[in-house]
Amino acid sequence: MPLENPLSLLAEQARTALSTEPSLKGCTLKLTSHARRRHMGLSISDAGRVVTVRTPPGTSSEQVVAFVIHQRPWITANRARISENVAAIPRKELVTGEGFDFIGAPMRLKVTDIPGSVARARLGSGWWLTANSAELSQRGAAPLIDWYADAGATWLHEHAPELWQRIAPQAAMPTLAIERSTRRWGSYHHARHEVRLAWRAFQLPRPLLHYALVHELVHAARPGGRPHGPEFWTLLQRHLPTARRDHGLIRKAGPQVWEGAIRPAP
Ligand SMILES: [Zn+2]
Repeated sequence: MPLENPLSLLAEQARTALSTEPSLKGCTLKLTSHARRRHMGLSISDAGRVVTVRTPPGTSSEQVVAFVIHQRPWITANRARISENVAAIPRKELVTGEGFDFIGAPMRLKVTDIPGSVARARLGSGWWLTANSAELSQRGAAPLIDWYADAGATWLHEHAPELWQRIAPQAAMPTLAIERSTRRWGSYHHARHEVRLAWRAFQLPRPLLHYALVHELVHAARPGGRPHGPEFWTLLQRHLPTARRDHGLIRKAGPQVWEGAIRPAP
């Protein structure tokens, strides 16, 4: 057994030599070794906090240092771009008054000491989402995401059967589920004959949520759940004439929809 991992020794030497390198300020330098690589490569991850150098066999720490210095403009530009993107993602503050959307209808958060799970209630002129303060401080956004998943499942079971009757009345109805961790609005899983919508899709305006559901139901109605193509779009537009426009709108809506990121209270 070797006494020391040569890669970690190499990384240590490179980190020491690059300790004042401006392009690496505030981030960790990692090294990975690749038997088949012939040249060094570079990537940035973890919201710009990790810079990884991929090295071929036999790379020296001097070569790593020279490579990083040569790549300084690229590292600096890309870390800046990534941190801007991170700053731009929608965040919610888990305090009374924070705004949320459910199928396009606005709600306000009401943080209370009353025990219990998140619930929607009409108070005065608007909708409120009441949540227990201890739950929010322990679990962050998770209790709110649970609420979206439950309310979304109820909506899905109310709306999908009727749509299915119009799209493929002779075929077996797919099962329905809510997905918590996905960047897609919805998906169709052929092996399970299951249509899933993402919890976050329930923040979209009603026409776009409707589009996401019809889109997946049309996948489910196609032989083998076949993906997009001219026939898919023909069938989709037969059931939803605004499909092309909705497709563009839902793509545009993506970056504005909350994905569960929170901002600490000031
Ligand atoms: Zn699709």
